This record gives sequence, structure tokens and C-alpha cells, in this order.
Amino acid sequence: MKIDQFFTKKPFVISGPCSAESESQILATAYQNKSYIDVFRAGLWKPRTSPSSFEGVGIKGLKWLQKVREKTGLRVATEVATPRHVECCLEANIDILWIGARTTVNPFYVQEIAEALKGVDIPILVKNPVHPEIGLWIGALERFYKVGISKLSAVHRGFHNYKKSVYRNDPKWELPIKLRERVIDMPIICDPSHIAGKAELVEDISQTAIDMNFDGLMIETHINPSKALSDADQQILPSQLNSILQNLVLKSSKLRDQKFINELKEFRDKIDLLDKHIIALFRNRKEIVEQIAILKDKNKLTIFQIERWFEILKTRKKYANNLNLEDEYINEIFDVIHKYSILIQTKKREND
Ligand code: PEP
Ligand code: MN
Repeated sequence: MKIDQFFTKKPFVISGPCSAESESQILATAYQNKSYIDVFRAGLWKPRTSPSSFEGVGIKGLKWLQKVREKTGLRVATEVATPRHVECCLEANIDILWIGARTTVNPFYVQEIAEALKGVDIPILVKNPVHPEIGLWIGALERFYKVGISKLSAVHRGFHNYKKSVYRNDPKWELPIKLRERVIDMPIICDPSHIAGKAELVEDISQTAIDMNFDGLMIETHINPSKALSDADQQILPSQLNSILQNLVLKSSKLRDQKFINELKEFRDKIDLLDKHIIALFRNRKEIVEQIAILKDKNKLTIFQIERWFEILKTRKKYANNLNLEDEYINEIFDVIHKYSILIQTKKREND
């Protein structure tokens, strides 16, 4: 994909309320944010879990967004989830559209929205799908690219949690990094508000995103967060956004200082060596696993024994704790190692 760059600075900042609630609310929010944001956002059609929640003001909010642009000079953005939304937004000359997480999950919806955009080169931001499936995210971006959208950006807003978590949506940072490897020149934005779910976490997540070299931030702001009709817990005041932006430590991914380059190289050399050892250990482990496969086969034992798996998890967790390593991290690694062991044993049986 050849992306047309449309971000005017880094970090590019998009902010505004989760939902447009009234003309005066969005105008006041936009005025307060005006001097430090690049684009004003407000949702008009809100995808809510329950039909009795506030589902947005709909079409009448388009006029309010036009007024925001007229009065503040800010570009305006909103979420579209159907071809009808697209049609209304294009008619109202909305500057930027975004696709929500619940829409990205469905290729049929995405295709219909993309087709409604044929022939119009408006910037489109595609939020990650609810579940961590990078293929769906890339697929959605491709659907827009194929109808001629060249100003594309991906928004990392976190993923549904399977386990209890401090976040509303877990930030799986490895996914946007993978996306960056696949679509090199596409700007990627982080949406700390939907990752956080609570206002107190927004600053930290924003800094992490900047450390990860994200190109922009989409942060929800409200003039009276506790009275917000949607996502009340995660919205912050425009003044808090200002302070977060002021406090951000911007880092460079380019290496300039020679002393720093040398120091970093020393550490990286150590890591390279350790990784080499780890891989050699995996090779030794694999050989033993193959011997186990032969032994189990001779004794007519199935490849997988659940008790052994539980024992592995328990003991590895204990070793990790003794060495002050997080057991969740070790658990995940052993999940992969064990999966691979089963695979090695299955292959060994097939080949022998
Ligand atoms: C939003 O931006 O307000 C929104 C609903 O986002 P998401 O699709 O990430 O839940
Ligand atoms: Mn929201």
C-alpha cells in the first residue's frame, strides 16, 4: 500500500468527546482544546452494547460539527458504521472518518462502507478489531485502499480482555508493531482512552505509545466528564489533555549520540549472545522431546498428558517467582514451548 501522508505533525492529536451530546457541549470542548489539537472528534452514531444506552444524536450532530469547524478552524472527524452514515458525512463535508472496532470485525460492513466511499479520497482511520486478529485489521485497511482511499491510518484502541485486567481493552503492543512492519509508511495512532477505560491511566498509556513511536494520539475529552452520556469514566478535561501533552517525553527512534550508540550496542551484543544460548537450549530440549516421543510410542502412551502439563505450569511458575520474574510472562512462553513439544512428538510419530 502506498499511503499519502496527511498527518501535519508528530504526535498528531485528535481529541473531543466520546459522543456529541449538544451543540454547546461540543463547541465548548472544541474551544478549550483548540490550541493544542489537530483534529476534533465526536461520535454521532454510537455502537453501544445495550439498546437502552445513549446511542448518539445522529444526523443532527453533523451541523454542530460544521459549526465547530467554522468557529475553530479545526478539522472534524466522526465514526461511520453504515453506508448511510458515510453518505450523510460526505454531504456535510466532514473532514475525516473513522471505523469503530465493532465494525472492523465484520468484512461485510467494511466492504459496504468502502464502496460508499468510492471516488472520494477522504482520510479514513481504522480502529483495530475487538479481538486481536491482525488479519481483520489489515483486511479492512486493504478494502479502503482498493476503493481508492490513500490517506489511511490505523488506530490501536486495545483488545477485548479474556482475563481480568486493569485496562478496559488490553493493549497488545505487538500487534500495531506487526502492522507497522506490514504497512511501513502508514501512520499509526494510539487511542489511550479506550485502552484505559479510566481517566487515571490515559497519561501513562499515551507516554507508552510515544515511546513505541506511534504517530498520533486520539484522546477523549469532555467539559464535564462525570456527566458524559457515554464512556464517562475514561474522558478527561481539555485542561488535563493539555497537561498530558505538555508532559509527554518525546523520544527519537534515530540514533545520534555516539556514546549512547556504543552503550546500546554493548547491551544488544549481550542480548544477542543470550538469545543464541536460549536457542541452543531449545535445540537440546527438542532432542529430549523426540526421545520421549519414541518412548511413549513404544509404551502405547498418548502424546499429551494433562497432569504433566499442569505440573509444568506449576513448577515453572514457581521457578519464575523465585527468580523475580512475572509468572504470567513465563506461562505464556511455556504455553508456546509446550505446544511446540506436542508438535515435535506428533511429527516424530508420523515420520517413524
Ligand atoms: C469511540 O471512539 O468512541 C468508540 C466507540 O471507539 P471503539 O470503536 O474503539 O470502541
Ligand atoms: Mn468512546
